[in-house]
Amino acid sequence: MKLFDNRYKTTEWPYGSGVWGKKEWVLPQIDNENIVSLYEGGTNLFWAERLSRMLGMGDLWIKLCGNSHSGSFKDLGMTVLVSQVKQMISEGAPIKAVACASTGDTSASLAVYCAAAGIQSIVLLPKGKISIAQLIQPIANGALVLSLDTDFDGCMRIVKEITKDEQIYLANSMNSLRIEGQKTVGIEIVQQFDWKTPDVIIIPGGNLGNVSALGSGLLMMRELGLIATLPRIVVAQAERANPLYRSYLNNFETFEPIQAQKTLASAIQIGDPVSVEKAVRTLKQFNGIVEQATEEELADAAALGDTTGMLTCPHTGVALAALIKLLKSGKIDKSERVVVISTAHGLKFTDFKVRYHEGTLNFPCGFANKPIELPPRVDAVKEALQQALQNRRKTDV
Ligand SMILES: *Cc1c(COP(=O)(O)O)cnc(C)c1O
Repeated sequence: MKLFDNRYKTTEWPYGSGVWGKKEWVLPQIDNENIVSLYEGGTNLFWAERLSRMLGMGDLWIKLCGNSHSGSFKDLGMTVLVSQVKQMISEGAPIKAVACASTGDTSASLAVYCAAAGIQSIVLLPKGKISIAQLIQPIANGALVLSLDTDFDGCMRIVKEITKDEQIYLANSMNSLRIEGQKTVGIEIVQQFDWKTPDVIIIPGGNLGNVSALGSGLLMMRELGLIATLPRIVVAQAERANPLYRSYLNNFETFEPIQAQKTLASAIQIGDPVSVEKAVRTLKQFNGIVEQATEEELADAAALGDTTGMLTCPHTGVALAALIKLLKSGKIDKSERVVVISTAHGLKFTDFKVRYHEGTLNFPCGFANKPIELPPRVDAVKEALQQALQNRRKTDV
């Protein structure tokens, strides 16, 4: 604990990185000169004091993993994978490129780490199903960007085929190197609480590699005696892409892949998750819960979070909506310490926010905040301000 604390967010390369500060637990055998680090991890554990009060609870925290180099928590795993690829290439492996299928964040992360390392990346993206910001990231970072007229699951099937060629290395999260880095998210949360375990951790889930990674980091800590208790883990899914939620409803006795429907939470629009078995194993060990959120619930929860000082991506909206529902049903107690993992930066999903605040989604958008258009005259501005400030809700504290 002391070693990890001494390294945490220092400028000592590579140990100042939240991932490589725990190198002994992540990838001990790698040479430091092969590490490709962009100072990942060490993200803000945001005390959501005002949102906490609005929800009538006492101790809500948001782990802002989107405040990261490529804007999502995928960086935690990608630094490990790309570093290991660099090491393999240095040892003579015939790798020409690294490839992934993605809903937008894995591809951005892979592209930027490969660019930093000087390795070619290839990204397979479902055409028209990721945000503009996510699309421009790999383009800017020099990836080979393949836009396929299918969904994520279709891209996944193809990338598995093309990476049978040993010159193209697979970067999706069935590759356990990713999991080794991603597992530091839970370790870092506990570290930020002075090595105390929170009661509940909520994470949005799509391909389900991240929930199993979260679990594996926490289990490792318990095995090594750093913590005595485990938190409950909640996976939050969009109702339109909810195969794990359906399986949860029958105690995980069966699992049926589904055709995921279009959802605002596009990074978790996955119907046939690769890591479902690991995720179920994790949930069983952590007294887990799966909750789902409709489009309206996730958009309203994200917008509510924003009014209290966040800038929430739709997936974090799914997690916040799950929290609200579990508080209502009593499955989470108001006194519990809850951490919501915010998985991407809201600025990657401005289109979602524009549509919400314009009120052009298919539901009421109760927190929409429309700009007031006015002629450029002092009297008009004064009048508009007077009206607007009068109407401001008294509940706003
Ligand atoms: C990848 C991702 C998730 C889900 O992680 P999985 O491992 O696919 O379950 C959630 N939110 C965002 C923003 C993501 O990029």
